[in-house]
Amino acid sequence: MGKLKIGILKINKVDKEVAEHLEKELPKIFPKSECEIISEVFPVPIEAYNKNRKQYYSSIILARIREKTKNFGFDIVLGVTELDLYVPHLNFVFGEAECPGKIAIISLHRLRPEFYGSKPNRKLHFERALKEAVHEIGHTLGLPHCSNQSCVMFFSNSILDTDRKTFHFCEKCFKLVKRKCGNG
Ligand SMILES: [Zn+2]
Ligand SMILES: [Zn+2]
Repeated sequence: MGKLKIGILKINKVDKEVAEHLEKELPKIFPKSECEIISEVFPVPIEAYNKNRKQYYSSIILARIREKTKNFGFDIVLGVTELDLYVPHLNFVFGEAECPGKIAIISLHRLRPEFYGSKPNRKLHFERALKEAVHEIGHTLGLPHCSNQSCVMFFSNSILDTDRKTFHFCEKCFKLVKRKCGNG
């Protein structure tokens, strides 16, 4: 079995250093994987915008990414955006993914400490982005949410949950990841 190929797709303008951090770190977490930033930037589909909520409906963006990237040759495509995402009946989402599937998306909007009135902290911002990226890619591999609060597959209801968990899978979840990545 070949390597799991992960592509990072920037949706509109995205913090370059965050994308590069993910590109470097994701292959360390997913066994036998490789990751690259897709050079083409994907413009956010305007129909995803909800002007009452002033947010973007992530499921619409996911569907458009699926169409756009179907011949790009990646096993998994992770969309990254600075825009604020939602799904109906939730105030916001940090991300969304096909479970199982190929497409995932994360929003950096609510990961910046400044969003919560705190001082800018690049290291914390990068770490939060990695946690959300690993979480959503975990879903594409078919992993459900995990009840272990420190496992990356724990559901983040708020940034406190994101900060409490690590960017690692618990032993139970990692067994599934290894099987999906062809190592186990
Ligand atoms: Zn989740
Ligand atoms: Zn777990």
